[in-house]
Amino acid sequence: EVLLDVVDLRAKVAETGEEILRGVNLTIREGETHAIMGKNGSGKSTLTKVLVGHPAYEVISGTATLKGEDLFAMEPEARARAGLFLSFQSPIEVPGVSNTDFLRMMCNERRKARGEEELDPLEFYGFLTPKLEQLNMDPSFLTRNVNEGFSGGEKKRNEILQLAVMESEMSILDEIDSGLDVDALRDVAKAVNILREGDKALLLITHYQRLLDAIHPDKVHIMQKGQIVQTGGIELATQLEEGGFASLAN
Ligand code: ADP
Ligand code: MG
Ligand code: MG
Repeated sequence: EVLLDVVDLRAKVAETGEEILRGVNLTIREGETHAIMGKNGSGKSTLTKVLVGHPAYEVISGTATLKGEDLFAMEPEARARAGLFLSFQSPIEVPGVSNTDFLRMMCNERRKARGEEELDPLEFYGFLTPKLEQLNMDPSFLTRNVNEGFSGGEKKRNEILQLAVMESEMSILDEIDSGLDVDALRDVAKAVNILREGDKALLLITHYQRLLDAIHPDKVHIMQKGQIVQTGGIELATQLEEGGFASLAN
């Protein structure tokens, strides 16, 4: 069943009026993992931010639906509650708020939206512990303040933990692999695979083939100048890595 459906989406920077997305089409079904690759500045992050309702952008035309519901008719918070969640490309530090409190707040927002009981701190600990184990994360992580003094790799893991806690139907990870060494990348790839359990869908934005080799996305899209210009399998990523964008011209 179709989960996310983006049709002819055009969007501009609110402040300058500059058109960045120039007719994007993208359909993601339940349980699928898609990757978008493309040069710096091609509009990948803009697409993700427009979908979650970032105020810096305005939709010019086109539609985006999540499970048939019009995303652009929902407030950003409602989109997250409906099951669309974007990891933070540059995670913020939140001084004085512990990671557990932050995660529990996010988790309870989603539970409320699904009509489920909120979890108290003890219950949340029980919910979180197996996830930490699955993600191979140290429990000491929880008592620290949100992203304060985290290393690059720890911030990435924390993004994945946030996504795991949200249990979103449609998770978007924007450059989760940037700046990671080979070991950290392997851990992150493992963690990303955990997010795919059940019929959850993933959209990965990446510059590199390395992550995709470990994840085997169902589809790879190439973005260029605000449009998805090519769609294929993992072979597109391989072609890109070997020959650059020129090799993809058809
Ligand atoms: P990518 O993620 O593919 O590297 P982006 O979506 O970040 O690309 O950016 C696409 C283009 O849109 C770039 O030229 C960038 O400068 C421009 N852009 C994106 N967001 C803004 C903004 N808030 N204000 C001005 N220009 C922006
Ligand atoms: Mg970029
Ligand atoms: Mg980007």
